[in-house]
Amino acid sequence: MLPKLFIIVPCYNEEEVLPVTAPLFLEKIQDLQNKRKISAGSRVLFVNDGSKDSTWEIIEKLAKESEVFLGISQSRNRGHQNAVLAGLMEARDLCDITISIDADGQDDINAMDAMVDAYLDGCEVVYGVRSSRETDTFFKRFTAESFYKFLSLLGAEVVYNHADYRLISARVLKEFANFKEVNLFLRGLIPLVGFKSTTVEYARSERMAGKSHYPLKKMIGLAVDGITSLSVKPLQLIMSFGILVAGVSFIGCIWALITALCGKSVAGWASMTCIICFVSGVQLISLGIIGEYIGKIYLETKHRPRYIISERTYTSDELK
Ligand code: UDP
Ligand code: MG
Repeated sequence: MLPKLFIIVPCYNEEEVLPVTAPLFLEKIQDLQNKRKISAGSRVLFVNDGSKDSTWEIIEKLAKESEVFLGISQSRNRGHQNAVLAGLMEARDLCDITISIDADGQDDINAMDAMVDAYLDGCEVVYGVRSSRETDTFFKRFTAESFYKFLSLLGAEVVYNHADYRLISARVLKEFANFKEVNLFLRGLIPLVGFKSTTVEYARSERMAGKSHYPLKKMIGLAVDGITSLSVKPLQLIMSFGILVAGVSFIGCIWALITALCGKSVAGWASMTCIICFVSGVQLISLGIIGEYIGKIYLETKHRPRYIISERTYTSDELK
């Protein structure tokens, strides 16, 4: 039997780009159906992430125009990761496979063919991997690539150059539903679920319209979430560094004692100031890192819902 596909598209203030990309998603569904790769009930599920522009109205209109388009709306803006999660959790009981993709047409939609093929060959997760980042600015490319390298240095398992364009089977989603954390970094969490997986390469192009919602501040936030969600190595590094500094200080103390005993003690203001500045800097950074983890523990203990769906363009009976 052919699998039923749900394409999950998170949308935040995308009124400019949705009218351009929505027909492409529809075309892709029809194309895959014609090639007899997916079943007739396949859909495109837009997740409105509390947009402040007319994104939701556009989604409602699309849903009226074609039964292939479905929409859910989050009660407020919760960020890209939560929007994707809301879509995945909504879709898990309604389909056999999901593919999450950005709304802006940056990810090559034609890679979906290879993703579905890989699923039909027995893979449960298929990661879309960027073959080139030529259209990204040097800064974005450099920071993103350093981030992947840094993460693997910390021992976290991430797929290099993979963002959130991926196929996940409903079977994997049912297991993933047991991962209850609010500190969400999907591209690091999905590999933890396991199952057979593979990668598919695609070229990343420029946004078809509108502008990016990932300014530097959000990128840093996502990077910190990624590190704290996947690794406790920074805490261990503080310990190792503390031991190193303590060792150096011990040698320094012996040296100071010897010079004092020999009667050669000098004013030493500069060296003292440098040491105080350096060590207090290290201490503050260390406290900051520990604080980051404590903050995350605090958020996790609250068990607040990760998303709240306020509206749907359909009733659940319609899709059963
Ligand atoms: N997005 C979202 N909520 C947000 C920010 C972004 O759902 O708070 C969506 C956005 O609509 C897009 C995807 O996440 O479909 C990726 O965002 P964007 O293209 O702005 O990021 P970039 O490609 O520049 O990293
Ligand atoms: Mg984009």
